[in-house]
Amino acid sequence: MSSVEFFRNLPPKQCTKCGNQLDEMHESYVQQCDECDQEMTFARAR
Ligand SMILES: [Zn+2]
Repeated sequence: MSSVEFFRNLPPKQCTKCGNQLDEMHESYVQQCDECDQEMTFARAR
């Protein structure tokens, strides 16, 4: 299987917290949507 076919067969990225489909613009390491990412940021700041 070529690398192109491999990536084509990957499911769309989803937020690991709420399951929202992530924007493809996100960096590859992002696993949560903007809303959940902000919640995490606020939680850490407290
Ligand atoms: Zn989310």
